Amino acid sequence: MNFLDQADQIKAYTVELRRDFHRHPELGFEEVRTAKIVADTLADLGLEVTTGVGKTGVVGLLKGAKASPVVLLRFDMDALPIQEENEIDFASEVPGKMHACGHDNHIAVGLSVAKILAGMRGTLPGTVKFVFQPAEEGDGGAERMVREGVLTQPKPDFALAMHVWNEKPVGWYGLTKGPMMAGAHTFRVKVRGQGGHGAIPQLSIDPVVAAAQIITALQSIVSRNVSPLDSAVVTVGTLHSGTAFNVIPQDVVFDGTIRTFKKSVYDVVEKRFREIVESVARAMDCQVNIEIAQVTYPVVNDPELADLMADIVQSLQPAAEVAQDYQTMGSEDFSYMTQDIPGCYLLVGSSNSAKGLDFGHHHPRFNVDEACLPTAVAVMANGAVAVLEKLKPR
Ligand SMILES: [Zn+2]
Ligand SMILES: [Zn+2]
Repeated sequence: MNFLDQADQIKAYTVELRRDFHRHPELGFEEVRTAKIVADTLADLGLEVTTGVGKTGVVGLLKGAKASPVVLLRFDMDALPIQEENEIDFASEVPGKMHACGHDNHIAVGLSVAKILAGMRGTLPGTVKFVFQPAEEGDGGAERMVREGVLTQPKPDFALAMHVWNEKPVGWYGLTKGPMMAGAHTFRVKVRGQGGHGAIPQLSIDPVVAAAQIITALQSIVSRNVSPLDSAVVTVGTLHSGTAFNVIPQDVVFDGTIRTFKKSVYDVVEKRFREIVESVARAMDCQVNIEIAQVTYPVVNDPELADLMADIVQSLQPAAEVAQDYQTMGSEDFSYMTQDIPGCYLLVGSSNSAKGLDFGHHHPRFNVDEACLPTAVAVMANGAVAVLEKLKPR
C-alpha cells in the first residue's frame, strides 16, 4: 500500500486531531495541553518521548531497523492571539486565541506521520526524530529547542518541515532549491521630542511630525537603495504616541520588521535604516533610540533534498502543481534547525475559494480545506523514508 492510501485510510484520525487542536489553541510556550496529547500519542505508538525540550517542546524518537541515518521532522504547535471569527463547529473555544496560521494542521499531520511510520518500523532504514516545536510565531521556539539540544542525541543528518499555505489551492506545492523564505529582523525606534501644549508648538519639539517623516523616508530604502533584482521588505507595524488631542507628546515609538534573503542586502538595508532614522530625526530636532534584533535566518533549502521532495510529491500526485522556484518574504524559525544540517521546507497549498476557505494566514477567518491533510501526511511520511533510503549523510 502506498503512502497516499495509508494516509487516506487514517484521514478521519488526522481530521479529528486537527479539529481538537483547533478548538484548544495555545500561544507560544504555553502549549501544555497540546504537548501532553502529542507526548501521550507518540508514547502510545512506541516512540521514545522527551518532553520539556524548549519548555513545551516534545521530541519523539522512532528507531527503525538501523540506527542511522537520522531524519528530523519538525511540526510547530503554537496558536495566535486572535479572536476567531469562523462559524464552524470546531471553532476556538478560547477567547482571543486561535490557530490562525494552521499549526493545528501541522500537529495533526505530524502525529499521523508518526502513526504510519511506527507501523513500519521493522523495515524503516534509519531513525526518525519527530520534533513538535513551541512558539514558532516570533518567540524563538526553534532557537530554544536547538539551545536545549534538539540537534543532538542523536544528531539528525537531514531535516524536513512543511506548512499549509492558503495563498495557494489544495493540490499545489511549493519549494525552492536554495533561499525560500526570508530572514527576519525586528526593529523598535523611539523618537524623543519635547512635549507641550498643542496650541503652542513653538515651545515644543514634536516627535509625531518627526516620526511621520522618518517612516515616509524609510520607504525609499527598498525603492532606492536595494537593487531591483534583489528583494527586501521594511514594514512599520506599530506606531504609538500621545494621550490627548491638544497635547504634543514627548515620545513616539514605532516598531516593525525587515525581511531579506541575503546578508549583503540586509547589510544595505540596516545601514540605510540607521542613517535615515538618525538624520531625519536630527533634522527635526529629535533624538532617537534604535533597537534591531534578528528573529530568524533565511530558510535555505538543500538542493538535493528539495529535488527528492519534489519527486515524491509528483510521484504520489501526478496531477499536483509543484512550484520549484517559490519564494516568500514570510519567515520561519525552522532555519535555526538547518544552519548545520541540510533541510527542506515544503509549502502545501490548502485553500479552496469555492468553499470560502481562502482567507490568508493570521486572518480571524483563516481556515484550510482539510482535503490537503492526507497528501501532506503522505508526502512527509514518504519523504522521511526516501531520505533515509536514498541520501547519504554528509
Ligand atoms: Zn504564522
Ligand atoms: Zn505558521
